[in-house]
Amino acid sequence: MIRASCICSTDDKSLFSIAHTFPSTSPFENYAGMVIGRCSRCGMQKTLRKNKQNFDPMQSRGQWYLHNEEEMSRAFTPLLSIIKRNLPTDAYIIDVGCSSGTLLSLLKKDGYENLWGVEPNKKAYLQAKKSGLTNTFHGTLDSIKKKLPRQADLVIYNHVLEHVPKPQEELLLASKMLSQEGYLLIGVPNRDNIVYQFRGMYWESLMPLEHIWHFGTQDLERLLESHKLAILEKNV
Ligand SMILES: [Zn+2]
Repeated sequence: MIRASCICSTDDKSLFSIAHTFPSTSPFENYAGMVIGRCSRCGMQKTLRKNKQNFDPMQSRGQWYLHNEEEMSRAFTPLLSIIKRNLPTDAYIIDVGCSSGTLLSLLKKDGYENLWGVEPNKKAYLQAKKSGLTNTFHGTLDSIKKKLPRQADLVIYNHVLEHVPKPQEELLLASKMLSQEGYLLIGVPNRDNIVYQFRGMYWESLMPLEHIWHFGTQDLERLLESHKLAILEKNV
């Protein structure tokens, strides 16, 4: 039976069937023995058996972002246009897992004034702070809930939710911090793509050393629906 609300809030590994076991042969040397499981209730895929030495969902590419600024700016163009289309420049915006602050800096350039960032990776957080993003904090969303002067108009999770241990709890907090008419903007690697369908564990964005969750379109939809969040726009 499929339970619509189950996004693997359970830690019971017996409810998962094995989707992938990584061998020790090339190119999987770093993933050897790791397992991605599929929840028998909701179909969600999760990194179950971790490589304790290398597994780090909080690793960041902050340095890489800084050295590839032009490329990153281009990559963020679709996000920027969604934000600019929907929100005025006095909107309160939180970027969760803002890394070195590339997206926030681009929003600042476009005239946005009330920008908040939170980043659990210390190195990346310090880079964001150094680039003049004053309302950037070290930690997770929880660490700024008392600092924000009012409810937010937008909370962004750009390639972050797949790193969060408990996405259910995370979105509950985010929805409490959002204003009545507020928006969530979520981007995740989507396993409903042709590369994953044909190449399985060879799909580059699986990245089991840092991704806990491997979302498909329906998984994210169910997660949002379980928090009574309406889906306004979907880019697959
Ligand atoms: Zn589940």
